[in-house]
Amino acid sequence: MGFDCARCPGYCCSHARIEVSDADVRRLAKHLGIPVRTARARHTYLYRAKEGAERILRHHRDHVYASVCHFFDRRERRCTVYAARPAVCRKYPYGNRCGYYSFLAFEREFHDDEDFVPSA
Ligand code: SF4
Ligand code: SF4
Repeated sequence: MGFDCARCPGYCCSHARIEVSDADVRRLAKHLGIPVRTARARHTYLYRAKEGAERILRHHRDHVYASVCHFFDRRERRCTVYAARPAVCRKYPYGNRCGYYSFLAFEREFHDDEDFVPSA
């Protein structure tokens, strides 16, 4: 595997539009023990893109990236609903390499600092 999520501050969870399906919302609702309607309203909203409307996860402010997914623990730098995370989160980064992690590893090597995080 060409990346290590445990050594990354969670860049992928800062993507502005993390789309969820109805099945994703149902899984999250079950995991959280709340009604589907509540999970949809509390944790997602309808984003109107040029290509059409899509339901995406809410964000909150973050000190590393401008904002991150509402389910991201900003201190621990991890997903709080990992077992029930949406399909798109399961698939990312779609292979054995993560472009962001390669960039991060390069910058850490360059700065001779294994904890270095480039500013967003
Ligand atoms: S950006 Fe890449 S290395 Fe970082 S948490 Fe996401 S998948 Fe893992
Ligand atoms: S649901 Fe979890 S894995 Fe997916 S973006 Fe949010 S914090 Fe990251």
